[in-house]
Amino acid sequence: MKKYGFHFDTTYTNLPDPFFTELEPQKVEEPNLVILNKKLSRSMGLDFSDLSLKKQAELFSGNDLPKGSTPFSQAYAGHQFAHFTMLGDGRAHLWGEHIMPNKQRVDIQFKGSGRTPYSRGGDGKAPLSPMLREYLISEAMFFLGIPTTRSLAVVTTGEAVMRETPLPGAILTRIAGSHIRVGTFQFAAYFCDKEALVSLMDYTIERHYSDLLDNVEIKNKPLALIKAFMERQVDLVVNWMRVGFIHGVMNTDNMTLSGETIDYGPCAFMDQYDPDTVFSYIDQMGRYAYGNQPKIAEWNLARFAETLLPLIDDDRDKAIFLAEELLSDFSDMYHLKWLRMMCCKLGLFGSYEGDERLVLDLLTWMHKNEADYTQTFYDLSEKTQCKNQVPTKGFFRDWYLRWQDRVLKNEKPLEDSLSLMKKYNPVVIPRNHKVEEALNMAGTGDLDAFCESLKAIKEPYKNIESFKSFQLPPNPDERVFQTFCGT
Ligand code: AMP
Ligand code: MG
Repeated sequence: MKKYGFHFDTTYTNLPDPFFTELEPQKVEEPNLVILNKKLSRSMGLDFSDLSLKKQAELFSGNDLPKGSTPFSQAYAGHQFAHFTMLGDGRAHLWGEHIMPNKQRVDIQFKGSGRTPYSRGGDGKAPLSPMLREYLISEAMFFLGIPTTRSLAVVTTGEAVMRETPLPGAILTRIAGSHIRVGTFQFAAYFCDKEALVSLMDYTIERHYSDLLDNVEIKNKPLALIKAFMERQVDLVVNWMRVGFIHGVMNTDNMTLSGETIDYGPCAFMDQYDPDTVFSYIDQMGRYAYGNQPKIAEWNLARFAETLLPLIDDDRDKAIFLAEELLSDFSDMYHLKWLRMMCCKLGLFGSYEGDERLVLDLLTWMHKNEADYTQTFYDLSEKTQCKNQVPTKGFFRDWYLRWQDRVLKNEKPLEDSLSLMKKYNPVVIPRNHKVEEALNMAGTGDLDAFCESLKAIKEPYKNIESFKSFQLPPNPDERVFQTFCGT
């Protein structure tokens, strides 16, 4: 039996040399385990029950790396707020790829594990609070049913990290389908030769889009990859819009080819519905506002397509024409999927003229009335059951009656509508004020609120009485308007 169940089979390091640097994480002074995701470790085939807490801390700090791991950091570039830069894992080390019992291949990665050749001016470290934030929100996304990286463990390092004030240093262990980013392709296209770009494309197809290889009719691999990636990105952003998630830093280095949500920095969930909502302190221009996310995904896809131009066709003009033709499908594809999703939020089956108007009118009403996004949809899903709860007057009454009429056109029992709504409308999201409260308390060494939040986000679609406080929008004095990267 392998120790703790690790089954390493690392393939990324078979790519040409420029894509990575092999190096060990920095040893830390006095590691302490803050949290271990036991359920996730079990599903990964891992078992640490024989390890003392001290030994677990040594493992998840990198002081004691598991047998079979071959640590390395990845090179990548990216457009950050539309500016192109060379980046790379400046404070992350991969242990390698682990094969789960269900045969799924995942990266195990440390974040906050010390300087690397890609650190630029940074210290390679991470403070505790943002690592716990990523842990909580990535797990919330998982339980909401949205593709995401996951969090296996957080340790403190016993060392202070210097930011505006000294903060406790920490390391997060992250599990991901892979860490291949749009920025990895940009790195290959700008800084490597064509051969390296081909290797990366083939590797990515093999790892994430192997079904493309089964299709003998595919004439142009890079175009097929762009199309398949576009579909995943559209689905991902539609899901974000469904639950009111604002990523906050949709830079091309934070968009993965696996189609998972990655890098939980200043991300946040919207309370009151407003498409211009921005929480991130660094996003002063609102580039990554809630309502801009589809446009940005499209912009990032165009940057991705650009990297593959030399592989699409030797004739650059022809390659551009073919890529543009493909990308021009984005807005229709997004619009259709978004509308379908919004109709599901309203319990509507089939498709009728006037559906979009119905959705847009509700959103406009919510915006004007500063209605809570999550709560409004949840309330509607409760009210479908009670015919006597029709609001008495005003625009909302008219809208409500229109909606009820439309529900009747479903030609399905009301229960079906209701269960559709319950599947699409969460009751619990990690609301900013609860996240801040949990992290503030964790900063004083008290993890009770953090653990309570973790429990609450595990059943996001169920109305559980004991988690009532996680369902409610913030009081005016509890509202959080800004989030910080805290790197
Ligand atoms: P992020 O905002 O986490 O997506 O990071 C953007 C880039 O900055 C990535 O290349 C990171 O590796 C790098 N970075 C962030 N924080 C640090 C740090 N403390 N030290 C070194 N590099 C960092
Ligand atoms: Mg990043």
